[in-house]
Amino acid sequence: MNRYLPTPSPNPPMDAVPFWDWCRKRELRFQQCGACGRHRHPPAPVCRFCGSDQVKWDPAPDEAELFSYTIVHNAVTEALKSYVPYNIAVVGFPSLQVRLISNIIDMPPSSLRIGMPLRLTWQECDDGTPLPLFLGEKS
Ligand SMILES: [Zn+2]
Repeated sequence: MNRYLPTPSPNPPMDAVPFWDWCRKRELRFQQCGACGRHRHPPAPVCRFCGSDQVKWDPAPDEAELFSYTIVHNAVTEALKSYVPYNIAVVGFPSLQVRLISNIIDMPPSSLRIGMPLRLTWQECDDGTPLPLFLGEKS
């Protein structure tokens, strides 16, 4: 499969290293506070709700939806010129109340709709790290 966009290898801050370790196993997981149980993303060293530093990594649910998106029409670098227009999507996981920035890779911009159901898929970065991307549920 061709890549949706050219993708350099992730160079995550320390708090996000476990997120990418799970991605290398093709498992999308989010931090869950070990004290209050709330989920958070992007990864952070302490819970913004209760201040606890206890954390576990909870698998993402199958249910995701398009919370918001933008369509990029002007390539910011030469490397992206052949990819426009492309989307940048905010994918919501309502049951966890977390959101993830990603792309919807199988639909033209005119088909994207806020609230549409999405399904997780993976494409590899330059170093082979699987990147979590999404497919739109066609209706
Ligand atoms: Zn908490």
